[in-house]
Amino acid sequence: MPEAPDLQVILEFLEPRLTGRVITGAREVKPLVLRNLTGKPFCDDIAGRTVEKIRRHGKLLFFELSNDRVVLINPMLTGGFRYADPSDKILATTHVILDFEGNRQLRYFDQKKMGMVYYLRPDQVNDTTRVDEQGPDVLDEPMNLEDFRTALRPFRGEIKGVLTRGRLVSGVGNAYADEILHAAMIFPFKKRTRLTHEEVKRLHEATYAVPRMAVNLLRREVGDAIHKKVRSFLAVHGKGSKPCPRCGYTISAITANKRETNFCRKCQPGLLVAN
Ligand SMILES: [Zn+2]
Repeated sequence: MPEAPDLQVILEFLEPRLTGRVITGAREVKPLVLRNLTGKPFCDDIAGRTVEKIRRHGKLLFFELSNDRVVLINPMLTGGFRYADPSDKILATTHVILDFEGNRQLRYFDQKKMGMVYYLRPDQVNDTTRVDEQGPDVLDEPMNLEDFRTALRPFRGEIKGVLTRGRLVSGVGNAYADEILHAAMIFPFKKRTRLTHEEVKRLHEATYAVPRMAVNLLRREVGDAIHKKVRSFLAVHGKGSKPCPRCGYTISAITANKRETNFCRKCQPGLLVAN
């Protein structure tokens, strides 16, 4: 679930609470999600290290620890975080728990074990995630329109796939791609090569505006409940058969490549077969 806007709000919550704090212990509640590449036993090795910095790139969250360790979390579709008190009930979906001084815990949960928690040395980060192949984060300073047109040019596939692939911009997933394309009034299955000059202009604007608006909303809605999935404000994603907020026409839901795409056939016209 977490895409750049969701993860940004989680980062902003955790940063002041965990930066500079010592990890006093850790627990791997369930195996499979944690991948420890340090060659050292995770729980013993992480205890006593300080969180020096928390940062995000796209859909990845990095906890940089003292003495050459990084916890890198890729929550994929089903992972999330809970900032908890040790006395809080441990839910069945909890996989990894980090204990912090001051009697606080950061818990990573995952409904389907799709996500990954890596425990690494800093020099292993790029090999593991190919983060260097990702495009600039979608919440970073936007590209200007001309650079955006140039950056789009190498891509030839359907425009939704171009957005979610992470190379043009990083951090846009299934949900925000639907939102961006609805805002830009572009048919999600349209090939990049078929986009008009005007459509690219609208795409450029929406690609940066939509996630930013979402961050502002999420900051208010999420608060300290960082485990909560807040998606109610979205215009089309997850809103199949509901009315389009722009024109009132019924929102379509199409499953392709194992993921659902929601769009408005009136605002985002296009042909499903030969587009
Ligand atoms: Zn519409």
